[in-house]
Amino acid sequence: MSNDDREAIRRDRLVKNELAFRDYNNRRVEVEQQAVALDGVEDELVPFVCECGSADCIGALMVTVSEYEAAHSAPNRFVVKVGHSYPDVEFVADQYEHYWVVEKHPGEMPLH
Ligand SMILES: [Zn+2]
Repeated sequence: MSNDDREAIRRDRLVKNELAFRDYNNRRVEVEQQAVALDGVEDELVPFVCECGSADCIGALMVTVSEYEAAHSAPNRFVVKVGHSYPDVEFVADQYEHYWVVEKHPGEMPLH
C-alpha cells in the first residue's frame, strides 16, 4: 500500500469518526432540548463528546445546547475541544474560550 493510500484511509477514518461522534451528540441534544422545554433552563453546560475524530480523544466538551446548535449551522461543521483540529481535513471556523468550531474542507465529507 502506498503512502498516499494510507493517508487517504487515515483522513477517511478521521471524517467518519467525526460524523459518528456528531450523531451521538445529535441524539444527546434532542434529549437536552426536551429537558430545556421541561425546566426552561437554556444556558446550562451539557457534556458533549469532542467531535475531533481522534480515536485517542475521550474528552468531554462542555457547551450549552444553544452553542451546540449554533456551531452546527452547516453540515460540515463540528464542535471540538480547543486545539483538536486537523488542518489537512478542516479549518478552524470559530474559536471560543472553551471550544472550537471546525469546518471540513469541501471534498472531505463522505457521500452517503
Ligand atoms: Zn478531541
